[in-house]
Amino acid sequence: AKVAGKNCYRFYSRVMDQAVERRVRMEQDLRGAWERGELSLAYQPVYRLDDGRLVGAEALLRWRHPEHGHVAPALFIDVAEQSGLIEAIGPQVLRAACMDARGWQEEAPAARQLFVSVNVSARQLRAGDLATQVEAVLRETGLPPSRLHVELTETAVIGDEARVSGLLARLRNSGVKVWLDDFGTGFSGLSHLRRVPVDGVKIDRSFIADVLRDPDDLALTTAIIAMAHSLGIQVVAEGVEKEGQYALLRERGCDMAQGYWLGQPMPDEEFRRLLA
Ligand code: C2E
Ligand code: CA
Ligand code: CA
Ligand code: CA
Repeated sequence: AKVAGKNCYRFYSRVMDQAVERRVRMEQDLRGAWERGELSLAYQPVYRLDDGRLVGAEALLRWRHPEHGHVAPALFIDVAEQSGLIEAIGPQVLRAACMDARGWQEEAPAARQLFVSVNVSARQLRAGDLATQVEAVLRETGLPPSRLHVELTETAVIGDEARVSGLLARLRNSGVKVWLDDFGTGFSGLSHLRRVPVDGVKIDRSFIADVLRDPDDLALTTAIIAMAHSLGIQVVAEGVEKEGQYALLRERGCDMAQGYWLGQPMPDEEFRRLLA
């Protein structure tokens, strides 16, 4: 800031204003978007690596803005989180995902085993009573608890381990599975695994992206798998875009995988066609 002249400051402040303005506008547009039918869920298939079977799907939120079209989830979910709107949207996502998963078994008897994995943000975790909310939704939709998986990021867990651990223990006691998402990006994964009870970790796709070329990424990926297995928990690799990555992960004993090579996120109707 020492060398920044007046014009320079104006420039940055104008850019800042634009960014703030854009977020404020996005927040306004996002309010009531679910009720207007602009938000929907896409399902990305998750496969087991040892036998190649479809085992479930991750529910991913999509927003089709009436004027701007498809908005990047990373962008609008951040706005929803910062503004608190996620506290209203999150429960809708949970309910819709459980209802859809309950419907999958109409396609084929084998689909009775498929799980649906729902992302839960830090704010949602700190807001209302997630366990009570989950129990109510499972009762309402009739989805068996073991078919619901919840994904939390390491950062959502940080700083509140005691309370979060209690919450996760309650969820897991009811049969719901809990995954630590974006694993490996938080630098503190190991210590969390000791204190926070989870069923598995999802290796962040930044590690998978270069796993065939970068020896460090391969070493980290292999270490995460070994460590998870020694703790008795499972591993999902995300962002599998090539057959070579799939083959390597399988060879290293990774349990499950998802990614564009295996299947893109898709609307429920399309996902159901995979089951029939
Ligand atoms: P995430 O939980 O890490 O989800 C995986 C992201 O990777 C998704 O991005 C998915 O479309 C993308 N992806 C899947 N396979 C591949 C691949 O092979 N290559 C690449 N490059 N990407 C792949 P998406 O749908 O844009 O979602 C971004 C993030 O937004 C999610 O990251 C998650 O953190 C958040 N999000 C999405 N839906 C929800 C939701 O319902 N609630 C909350 N709280 N967060 C959500
Ligand atoms: Ca996720
Ligand atoms: Ca992830
Ligand atoms: Ca991510």
